[in-house]
Amino acid sequence: MGVCSPACKLPRRGKSCFLLILSLSLLVWIAAFSSDAVKSALVSFATAQTLVKVETVKDQLHSWTAVPSRINTPAQKAMCPEESPLLQGAVKLDFESSLKLKDVESNNKDVTEGEYEPSDCVSRQNVAILIPQRNREKHLLYLLHHLHPFLQRQQLHYAIYVIQQAGDVTFNRAKLLNVGYLEALKDYSWDCFIFHDVDLVPENDHNLYVCDKQPKHLVVGRNATGYKLRYKGYFGGVTAMTKEQFLQVNGFSNAYWGWGGEDDDLRIRVELQKMKIMRPPADIARYTMVFHKRDNGNEINKDRMKLLGRTPQVWRKDGLNNCSYQMLSLERLPLYVNVTVDIGKP
Ligand code: BGC
Repeated sequence: MGVCSPACKLPRRGKSCFLLILSLSLLVWIAAFSSDAVKSALVSFATAQTLVKVETVKDQLHSWTAVPSRINTPAQKAMCPEESPLLQGAVKLDFESSLKLKDVESNNKDVTEGEYEPSDCVSRQNVAILIPQRNREKHLLYLLHHLHPFLQRQQLHYAIYVIQQAGDVTFNRAKLLNVGYLEALKDYSWDCFIFHDVDLVPENDHNLYVCDKQPKHLVVGRNATGYKLRYKGYFGGVTAMTKEQFLQVNGFSNAYWGWGGEDDDLRIRVELQKMKIMRPPADIARYTMVFHKRDNGNEINKDRMKLLGRTPQVWRKDGLNNCSYQMLSLERLPLYVNVTVDIGKP
């Protein structure tokens, strides 16, 4: 008998049982090993995928941030020059009877809801133009026709507000201007306010619609009165005051119903605050007044002298701080913001 392993010594049945167990263990081991291998293969595949993704995101980020940021960030606009290069000086005004609002709109395509700002520079002042009116649509049309290009040539950021008195009780220009100031400030913190009669058209664009350290009176002369200042203290027609100056004097009085006196009252308020009225040179501060007859509902205010006498005593409680009104509508039209108000009666 030759050499034989103990297994050889097992009976034939036991031998085949041993072989079966051995092969089963082998299979289990292979299965276990192979699943680990699959797992590790999957992990490395996923890791590779993740790395690819991170790289892709990095690339994306780079392409979103680095390159387009240079393209998308608008170039910083410089301040507009102290003197606009677009000014033309004295311009010839036209008052064509055939002029239509549509024509003015199509000539002022860059004006949106009455507002404009230069596209290529930052304006030195933000200016609200306040125009009180009632039944003067034709005058308003002529004024818009001239004023929009005039203000654009001055490179201003501006908006025009027209404040319309509802109903037919006596007109009150001053109270409408107070309403305009309060309403315009709800839109934007304007630096400067221009209080503008509807029938006065500026003739020379060197007459700048900006505010100064002191209140400004912009109408030195007008065609109807031989371009002469009406009287030394005249402060009517078109005036410019900063937001702060106007607040300091408590705005206009609300007590002047009918024609006259409210502008003199504002001058008294300004003088009480030790401010000094400034005027541009007479050859620049020139206006054409669009002819009209005295309106119904705007009769001369016979009480105006009496009212002017009490201004120093009442200005603190008669003005912006007691200006009550009922807003009837606020329409953002292409060329101006149209504010219609009920301001009560005398
Ligand atoms: C009135 C002012 C008016 C001025 C010029 C004065 O008598 O009180 O309101 O602006 O005349 O017409």
